[in-house]
Amino acid sequence: YIMELTFTQAAKGVNKEIVVNINDSCERCHGKGHEPGTKSQRCHYCNGTGMETINTGPFVMRSTCRRCGGRGSIITTPCLVCRGTGQTKQKKTVMVPVPAGVEDGQTVRMPVGKKEIFIT
Ligand SMILES: [Zn+2]
Ligand SMILES: [Zn+2]
Repeated sequence: YIMELTFTQAAKGVNKEIVVNINDSCERCHGKGHEPGTKSQRCHYCNGTGMETINTGPFVMRSTCRRCGGRGSIITTPCLVCRGTGQTKQKKTVMVPVPAGVEDGQTVRMPVGKKEIFIT
């Protein structure tokens, strides 16, 4: 993210708000992917292991379960907000404390939720 500062802001330091779009755990389901109050069911296809055995003639291969995608569970009621992915794009307002005398092109690291963003 690029933040524009006036000369005075850079010289004196400023708290500046920026709005960022980041992928973060869904707030509705807390990243679990199913509606709050509902439970995900154990996948009967792989018996909850997330792996399935494929018989390809002479070979027996272990592969990620196609029905549950390797999770070992099936979401019966997907979260309305993230549609079962557990991740949503979220608009977050971040207050960036700009230290006095900041140089042009200087980069600071800011934690946003579980992620970190870089602001120049
Ligand atoms: Zn969700
Ligand atoms: Zn499965």
